[in-house]
Amino acid sequence: MNVTKAEMIITAGLSSQFPVHDMPEIAFAGKSNVGKSSLLNAMLNRKALARTSSQPGKTQTINFYNVQDTYMFVDLPGYGYAKVSKTDRERWGKLIEGYLEKREQLKKIILLIDIRHEVGNNDKMMYDWIKHYHNEVIVVATKMDKIKRSQVQKHLSMIRKGLNLMPEDKLVGFSSETKQGKEELWKIIEEIQEM
Ligand code: GDP
Repeated sequence: MNVTKAEMIITAGLSSQFPVHDMPEIAFAGKSNVGKSSLLNAMLNRKALARTSSQPGKTQTINFYNVQDTYMFVDLPGYGYAKVSKTDRERWGKLIEGYLEKREQLKKIILLIDIRHEVGNNDKMMYDWIKHYHNEVIVVATKMDKIKRSQVQKHLSMIRKGLNLMPEDKLVGFSSETKQGKEELWKIIEEIQEM
């Protein structure tokens, strides 16, 4: 999709603030600093629509973006930041669970994993959590430009193994720097209209 229109609709800290609309939603999840804001900006042809994190783990909100009046992109708050208090972590859990559990128009969930790192317990929990509510997860391995091309397949299979991905789960390599993987990810998102 050639995105010419993308706008933030709301930053929701409570499920009562989730917007009412009839577009399919695509949600993006991942550990803080995984490159989620950068990926959203790359997908939406924008430099700084989604804010790249100066204070990782601090944003406990779900941000909704109207994309071309066709999709609603949903930026879920990042996890795994050590300095977050227990209260904040619980709030995070409630907010995300409220979203995953109840959102009928949620059609695809994209889980981001840094291609350089081992899959963490938080990532596994998130994957299992998503699987519990939806039967398909799209995993995106971010920052692909940071490793040698010859290492890419090895790292992708580490992620596949680490998360114990099911055959139906898609795994895409991505770089916000080079825009590698952007076309492929858009293609997967656009399959929704044929569903
Ligand atoms: P978020 O916390 O998940 O939203 O992560 P950000 O998008 O803010 O990215 C975290 C850091 O990783 C920033 O310094 C980005 O510039 C950097 N980064 C994100 N994506 C890429 C990528 O594809 N390639 C490279 N080289 N750096 C990236």
